[in-house]
Amino acid sequence: MKKNNIEDIYQLSPMQQGMLFHTLYAPDSGVYCQQFSCTFTGVLDVEAFDAAWQQVVARHAVLRTAFIWERKDVPLQLVYRQVKLPLLIHSWQGLSPDEQQQQLQAFLSSDADHGFQLSLAPLMRLNLIQMSADVYQFVWSYHHILLDGWSLPLVFKEVLGYYSALCEGQELQLPSSRSYREYIAWLQKQKLAEAEQFWRQTLKGVTSPTPLVVDTQQKSSLLSSDSEQIQQLSQTATAALVSFARQHQLTLNTLVQAAWAILLSRYSGETDVVFGVTVSGRSPTIVGVESIVGLLINTLPMRVSVSDEDTVLFILKQIHSSLFEISQYEYTPLVQIQAWSDVPRGLPLFESIVVFENYPVDAALQQHSQKLHISDVRAIERNNYPLTLIVQPGEQLSLRLIFDHQRFQSATIARMAEHFQTLLEGMIANPHRQPLNIPLLNATEQHQILVKWNQTEADYPKQLCLHTLFEQQVQKTPLSVAVVFEEQQLTYSELNTLANQLAHHLSSLGVGPEVLVGVCVERSISMVVGLLGILKAGGAYVPLDPTYPSTRLAFMLSDSQVSVLLTQEKLLEKLPVHQARVVVLDRDWQAAQHSQSNCISGVTANNLAYVIYTSGSTGNPKGVAIEHHSPVTLVQWAKSVFSPQQCAGVLASTSICFDLSVFELFVPLSCGGMTILAQNALHLPSLALCEQVTLINTVPSAIAELERIKGIPASVQTVNLAGEALQNQLVQKIYKLNTIQQVFNLYGPSEDTTYSTFAEVEKGATQPPSIGRPLANTQIYILDTFLQPVPVGVAGELHIGGDGLARGYLRRPELTAEKFIPNPFALSKPDSRLYKTGDLARYSIDGNIEYLGRIDH
Ligand code: AMP
Ligand code: MG
Repeated sequence: MKKNNIEDIYQLSPMQQGMLFHTLYAPDSGVYCQQFSCTFTGVLDVEAFDAAWQQVVARHAVLRTAFIWERKDVPLQLVYRQVKLPLLIHSWQGLSPDEQQQQLQAFLSSDADHGFQLSLAPLMRLNLIQMSADVYQFVWSYHHILLDGWSLPLVFKEVLGYYSALCEGQELQLPSSRSYREYIAWLQKQKLAEAEQFWRQTLKGVTSPTPLVVDTQQKSSLLSSDSEQIQQLSQTATAALVSFARQHQLTLNTLVQAAWAILLSRYSGETDVVFGVTVSGRSPTIVGVESIVGLLINTLPMRVSVSDEDTVLFILKQIHSSLFEISQYEYTPLVQIQAWSDVPRGLPLFESIVVFENYPVDAALQQHSQKLHISDVRAIERNNYPLTLIVQPGEQLSLRLIFDHQRFQSATIARMAEHFQTLLEGMIANPHRQPLNIPLLNATEQHQILVKWNQTEADYPKQLCLHTLFEQQVQKTPLSVAVVFEEQQLTYSELNTLANQLAHHLSSLGVGPEVLVGVCVERSISMVVGLLGILKAGGAYVPLDPTYPSTRLAFMLSDSQVSVLLTQEKLLEKLPVHQARVVVLDRDWQAAQHSQSNCISGVTANNLAYVIYTSGSTGNPKGVAIEHHSPVTLVQWAKSVFSPQQCAGVLASTSICFDLSVFELFVPLSCGGMTILAQNALHLPSLALCEQVTLINTVPSAIAELERIKGIPASVQTVNLAGEALQNQLVQKIYKLNTIQQVFNLYGPSEDTTYSTFAEVEKGATQPPSIGRPLANTQIYILDTFLQPVPVGVAGELHIGGDGLARGYLRRPELTAEKFIPNPFALSKPDSRLYKTGDLARYSIDGNIEYLGRIDH
């Protein structure tokens, strides 16, 4: 363009500089390419329409502006005296309405991708698409660097005014408007020192952006591409919000900001959140500011403390005054604020922004369009933030979530929009509640998470005891081998007889229901006889590992106060001082002197079966007291998942002090399988019956080692892994042995009888294994600190309910009360309890649970 065509040159506002930077950084992304579209119905005078636009362009410098940045210290904007605004006319009259809509979508996205070259004015273009004789689709595309949403009605009002006048052959005289240059001059006069103090104070202690949590962290390319989710509140809901705001002398904007703050807090689990708010930037100290066409908006950080000590109303008042405060400094460049904050360079100050649009474009258009009927008004906006909430007031409050679809799935954003709405409605219904106590999930989602995903009820013999399951199996397969250790083995019938004889002996010593009996024996067939004998006598076993340090054994003996202790002669010396009556299994009793028949002890399914001491990483170990019905439901579940063939040879390699042993011993013994005892899992390759092992149940670290030493025999088809987080890589390595058919990830604390959730990990899977779904008669709840369910994708503490739950901790009622809490969701069993696991987890969309680690309380 010719030099004498230049009317003016001046600097950019900070907001313009930011947009310039982002546009140059991602030139083809369509970032900040805004599109305004609407439908005109009636007779459109295209020539007059074009002329009207050219007149408006002539009135406002910004519409004739381009930018230069190279070889200059500071970028500048050049205003041209004259530019020609392109108006392109298309005709799609031959297409069906559906085809027209499809084509329009394609047109809008290719137009956006086209973007603008910031050095070439005008940075806008018009398209008129004729859809039928009297219907035009209008698309006005412009770069956001020119103007903000508040300018739209100003521009349109003028276009329509000129258009009407032109149609009637008249000339419209409009008063001159303030120019953008005056705004820039005003900006340059603002003193930043005071603003710096304010923002430093406001953001003190903020060191990272509030995480959005439900996004995928990976971004596959620099380009972002936006999608949007639109939702409208009902008229009634909107009216209720408006009247609440009025009643408490708040603005609707304040309600929106508070709901967003609470949403971010509930998603992230943080009580101090920061998000961006877009302010108009039209300070009343600028004369005639309301008539300036240009980019005056600014995005500023909004920090909200969502403390569990405050009420919703308090937070609302807090936000109301924050909004007033920040409006005093709304001219501050965001890059400056960012630099004054403690958030490291390279990290954004916030990742989501809230825009409350109180410039009703629609209404302005209707009001000024005597000549044309205007409908379907839509503004498509693109910015540089992963997530933007745009709220438009009106008879029905409209919510638009614009999101980078490389970071978010549409379904996630749809749920977020629902949560936002539920929060808004919950806030005004419960203004005196704590913000973290406002419902977040709507009824459908709540039902899915609490009820549907927990529909695990399955029949099991509720009246039976653990040893009865074995006794029933003895009837069916008396001559099958039940247990093997080194050279020794016993059939079902032999094992039953020996266990019965021991049971009668123990009974004569006073063992019966609720009597605790210690078992401190080396791994052997006698160990299995001992456990069954104790159960059959009606007692509960307390495993004591002879290899434990004697201080630990002393603690367990004194804490459990066992009245009888089964042991071996060679271990007697090792045992610490205790009160129990000792039965030396290999010396003190003569099996032949006792009855071979099943003992009638009066024990019921609600009596204790065993007490296992958990390692207790902090403080003393605690005795988890498990009643019979708990392992009975576990065994019944196992029989529904694993066939008798799969359980034909189960490696029993885990110490009886760990609950995995309950699975390894009692599942095969209840379905006719063989329990193959080993000192530990790594002994598997050296076992005589190695080639008869069909199922291994162990920790990932042990299977990794077995795999490394090529110690998994071809007979093994099923591998159960539990106890620690499982890596997919390990599972896939195991599947490389083509003999392995199923690998399961099983999760559960001792307090819930071995296993609570399970998932089969697929061969060829690429994602980290989930811990799956609750097993039979088990409920899982992922809750926040207020025991409210968290949404899908949001982390919370895993809580467990169901028939596998322990009675509690032995002699530690205070611990029991703290960890086993009343179940707030109990639907069918009103007095049931939940166990707080201290594990962090989240739901994926399909209801599978991802284990995320331990929570540090
Ligand atoms: P314990 O009570 O000794 O059985 O330990 C239970 C704890 O082990 C759980 O609370 C989890 O932290 C961890 N754990 C058990 N199974 C798994 C698993 N499959 N994946 C990840 N962690 C597990
Ligand atoms: Mg466990």
